[in-house]
Amino acid sequence: METVNIKINGVAVSAPKGSTILEAARLAHIDIPTLCFLKEINEIGACRICVVEVKGARSLVASCVYPVNEGMEVWTNTPKVVDSRKKTLQLILSNHNKRCLSCVRSGNCELQTLSKELGVDNESLYAGEMQHFTIDDSAAHMIRDNSKCILCRRCTAVCEQVQSVGVIGANERGFRTNISSPFGMGLGETSCVSCGQCIAVCPTGALAEKDAVGEVLAALADPDKHVVVQTAPSVRAALGEGFGLPIGTNVEGKMASALRRLGFAKVFDTDFAADLTIIEEANELLDRVSKGGTLPLITSCSPGWVKYCEHYFPDMIDNLSTCKSPQQMFGAMLKTYYAEKNHIDPKKIVSVSVMPCTAKKFEIGRDHQSAAGVPDVDIAITTRELVRMIERTGINFLELPDEEFDNPLGESTGASVIFGVSGGVMEAALRTAVWKLTGENPDSPIEFSEVRGMQGIKEASYDVAGLTVNVAVASGLKNAHDLLTKIKNGEANYQFVEIMGCPGGCINGGGQPIVDSKTRNFVDYRSLRAKALYDEDAGKVLRKSHDNPNIKKLYDEYLGTPGGHKAHETLHTKYVKRKIQ
Ligand code: SF4
Ligand code: SF4
Ligand code: SF4
Repeated sequence: METVNIKINGVAVSAPKGSTILEAARLAHIDIPTLCFLKEINEIGACRICVVEVKGARSLVASCVYPVNEGMEVWTNTPKVVDSRKKTLQLILSNHNKRCLSCVRSGNCELQTLSKELGVDNESLYAGEMQHFTIDDSAAHMIRDNSKCILCRRCTAVCEQVQSVGVIGANERGFRTNISSPFGMGLGETSCVSCGQCIAVCPTGALAEKDAVGEVLAALADPDKHVVVQTAPSVRAALGEGFGLPIGTNVEGKMASALRRLGFAKVFDTDFAADLTIIEEANELLDRVSKGGTLPLITSCSPGWVKYCEHYFPDMIDNLSTCKSPQQMFGAMLKTYYAEKNHIDPKKIVSVSVMPCTAKKFEIGRDHQSAAGVPDVDIAITTRELVRMIERTGINFLELPDEEFDNPLGESTGASVIFGVSGGVMEAALRTAVWKLTGENPDSPIEFSEVRGMQGIKEASYDVAGLTVNVAVASGLKNAHDLLTKIKNGEANYQFVEIMGCPGGCINGGGQPIVDSKTRNFVDYRSLRAKALYDEDAGKVLRKSHDNPNIKKLYDEYLGTPGGHKAHETLHTKYVKRKIQ
């Protein structure tokens, strides 16, 4: 690698040619503060917080976009630099609703942290007229509060470039500039897909999930309700971050323990329904292949992706698997099978899910998601809300003992655990495909490395019991867009495609604990979270969905055959064509 030699604060640094001052400083263990910068997503050098002095330059330069050159001398912390950053921050704060005490991001807000680090207090030097906004709560999954927006444009960049949606942008000009939807529409009226990736990158409390913690606590306090919870695979790989544990710590045992102490009647695992999804989806795939149905079959676990397909590729909704997502399959089993077995009126059951995903809040309100005549899932909360709920109820999470899920809906295999990572559903399906085709259960192969990893699009061909199966995996909706365009243009011929709405899959869902930009820009946090799930899979005795004994029992006792009449009524759904707006 070609390098250049520079000096930062008098220290000699050798940095790769083409890197920025910000990146080079990191190599010298010097952090330069940033606000608008998000690596490879929002590299616009607009907020001017990251300014530094460069010998010979006429003014301060934005280190996030300024490339290093041989012999360059840089100072990152001179009085001139610090004074400039403080003034910039004072200007931002002069039009900011500084209600930190009750703000959802207090303690985890980049603006607040920066103000503290730079010693900028709330009394702005530039106090004067302020903009006033109404809160946009029109969407099912999130609220937008522009009074806390600092116009960094990280949200608009992720929505447009990473998710290929682009329903938010800068409106008006100058002092009146604000981030909103076109023509003053509420976000809920647009073709926003509810992915929550904008929330995940927002440095402040301007964007947040719609909080349902109060609703869950009220249900738990109601003696007439039987409140049951399920948790998605990727929640266990990130929940610990909310309590200061290192990224990638698997806290499954403590999570089950905390949920039990919160008062849930049963603590179940969405992984059980992930195994069920594989059985139904494998059946659907082989059915379509043998009967000449619409191919490729595309997974439907990710509600952000499903809504994207309905808005932006409505002519491909027949490609979507009709399987409900694991969240919804679980809810359906809870209110039918579990309710009948335990003689509980489904109307008395409150079905709560803990998800890495904000789009799950939209999904629970979709049509054709009520197997027992009542919604399969009543309340979907995110990992972040679970952190809040544990904190609010005084549970000392870090000191909890490890506990197990309840059964029968808590039994799962390694295949279901990896649902939380891009490529995981595909791998789980491939583990079951040979058994489904031949009725045999060979020991290998069990790991499919070609569909693992954080690449946006992965492709592979496998020989499955003598049948060549071409597969593709995409995560992040821009990648989904590119892959679908290729399929539509006849440039690719797959039988089975996995798509996840969020880059890297659910481990990076819009409802997971916020990763600040300092970490995001320099640490591969998605791979660390993914590793926690792959490690759990590797340590399981049962690693194939069809080996889950409670799934077999469920079909024997209740559902009949995969894809049969009862399975279809309870576990499958329908989609609608939507407009772009
Ligand atoms: S966004 Fe940050 S600075 Fe603003 S009120 Fe919330 S915590 Fe305070
Ligand atoms: S939730 Fe997703 S689609 Fe909706 S505005 Fe945010 S990034 Fe865009
Ligand atoms: S909403 Fe958040 S991410 Fe978007 S521009 Fe405002 S502060 Fe930045």
